Amino acid sequence: MATKEAETWIFWDISSCPVSSSDVASRVGPCIKRALKNLGYSGCITLTAIGILTDIDTDVLQAVYSSGVSLTHVSSERLGITLELMWWIKEHPIPVNFMLISGDEIFRRNHRFFEEAGHTVIQNFPFDQQDVDSTPVPSRVWENFLASLRPDAIESGVLEKEPGLVCGQCCLPDQQGFENFIKHLKTHVHVSPESSPRMMKRKQPEASFSIFGEIPNVK
Ligand SMILES: [Zn+2]
Repeated sequence: MATKEAETWIFWDISSCPVSSSDVASRVGPCIKRALKNLGYSGCITLTAIGILTDIDTDVLQAVYSSGVSLTHVSSERLGITLELMWWIKEHPIPVNFMLISGDEIFRRNHRFFEEAGHTVIQNFPFDQQDVDSTPVPSRVWENFLASLRPDAIESGVLEKEPGLVCGQCCLPDQQGFENFIKHLKTHVHVSPESSPRMMKRKQPEASFSIFGEIPNVK
């Protein structure tokens, strides 16, 4: 099992836990990282906003990215995020701390895959409550969390590492820069995951997890 000194990875489902303005968007990542640091997680913290990014204003995405949060676009919330998480598990065999922030039931179903892989799943969002299973996160809890974010949350300084930019629907290299990433999302037709080369490539190993039959009402 991972320790608090190990790496911590957080996936924030920005489709089911949205932000309405760039001001608030810029505070989410720094506040989450600060809260985890205060809880004793001293290793490198990587935060990724994942969801249907084509539905989100560019200003909001820019604010999220500029605050040190990686962006991952998926074409459908449940299936797309599940595929990304299963891919992430395969790519990260060393136990880490893992946190899921989503208003969707899908994350509860995935917890056991992380635990079976040896990762420690952190569930104490919104951080100020103990022993609360808040996955999925109720909209009221998420809204209260956003309302609590202070404008001074953003700390100046150099980011620990450059945030990633991933289109989970395409074979988009992860070094294109924010402007090109947004251009890609706007100019490509992101409608059919079945036609995506990357999705097709990923479907082979994912079959071993045998989870797709458990997901009802996949969008
Ligand atoms: Zn794409």
